[in-house]
Amino acid sequence: MSASIVIVDDEPEQIQVLAQMLSDLGEIYVCTSGLEALAMVRQRHPDLVLLDANMPDMNGFDVCAQLKEDAELADIPVIFVTAQDAPEFEVSGFDHGAADFIAKPVQRSIVRARVKTQLKVKQMGDALRQTAAEDALTGLANRRYFDTILRKEIQIAQRRGEFLTLGLVDVDHFKLYNDHYGHPAGDACLCAIARALVTACQRPSDLVARIGGEEFALILPQTSLESSALVAVRVMNTVAALNLAHHGIATDARVSISMGLALYSGISDRHEIGPSALQDHDDETAAIGSRLLAKADKALYVAKRSGRNRVCTANPAEADTQMLVIYPSAHQCVWEALSTEGVQKNQAAA
Ligand code: GH3
Ligand code: MG
Ligand code: MG
Repeated sequence: MSASIVIVDDEPEQIQVLAQMLSDLGEIYVCTSGLEALAMVRQRHPDLVLLDANMPDMNGFDVCAQLKEDAELADIPVIFVTAQDAPEFEVSGFDHGAADFIAKPVQRSIVRARVKTQLKVKQMGDALRQTAAEDALTGLANRRYFDTILRKEIQIAQRRGEFLTLGLVDVDHFKLYNDHYGHPAGDACLCAIARALVTACQRPSDLVARIGGEEFALILPQTSLESSALVAVRVMNTVAALNLAHHGIATDARVSISMGLALYSGISDRHEIGPSALQDHDDETAAIGSRLLAKADKALYVAKRSGRNRVCTANPAEADTQMLVIYPSAHQCVWEALSTEGVQKNQAAA
């Protein structure tokens, strides 16, 4: 994929000179003020920013400092382009998060050399970050990345007053699968299930992660329990459609999964956070994440204990009661109160 570079300068002629020098190194986007630059970088997530240090409305140092404060933008290298060459000035730039400096008037060979170096560093950093976030076997997000995204999505749900559903998936009788077919075939089976989960979780904001040996997690932002039941039906159907034999159980058995769902409601948990409370807020978010995981894990346990190949949902109203979503056929799901005799058939969806 080609690199993208944002050039920021209040003098359009300067922008034109730089853009011409760099036109073959990537997509070039330009703007003429600090505020515009912030908006453009937030929107485009470029690979590099060339930033004029002196601009009338907001100087380059302030723009750079704001970019570095934003966790999602902090990894984008910023090269200052400036006529000032005093050492204190450069030191201050590096303090504000600069990756490098280019002196005005700009020289083509120097500009290209410095830009190429920063693009290479960015590319290597991206590859490292990707590897650190990825599960090596399936290519899904790994546990570490899952933890980060869960906290982030909880905070977003809180801020916007939205629902978030967490799903935990565990392959049924997978030890028997390995015992029967061998570990490499077990690995291939996990990869097939990983792909099925990704297919079933269709929104761009959904995250599918492998969080343990044969355990997966689904983060479904902006998703109520009712909507997540539909996703769960799709997940179960997609895994069933793989039609993978599991002769470790019986000659006619197929690979199946069990799932536990738990809801987080940012609607009932909504509050504004001031800067001084941010640390407390992070701790609180981590605690909410742990509680949500524990709830989903408990629902998963109930799914296993009650017969596997089904989805159980932690009841948001009564902590101790579980609701069962079971699958009498691949096309129907029924909600059932697990601990009571009365079966509450309030959902039938395909
Ligand atoms: P249950 O239905 O109760 O979940 O039974 P189970 O056999 O799936 O559960 P258990 O936790 O006893 O066994 C999980 C098995 O998953 C054990 C291990 O051999 C297998 N496993 C874990 N990680 C991997 C992996 O990376 N590759 C393969 N092939 N197997 C794995
Ligand atoms: Mg397991
Ligand atoms: Mg298992």
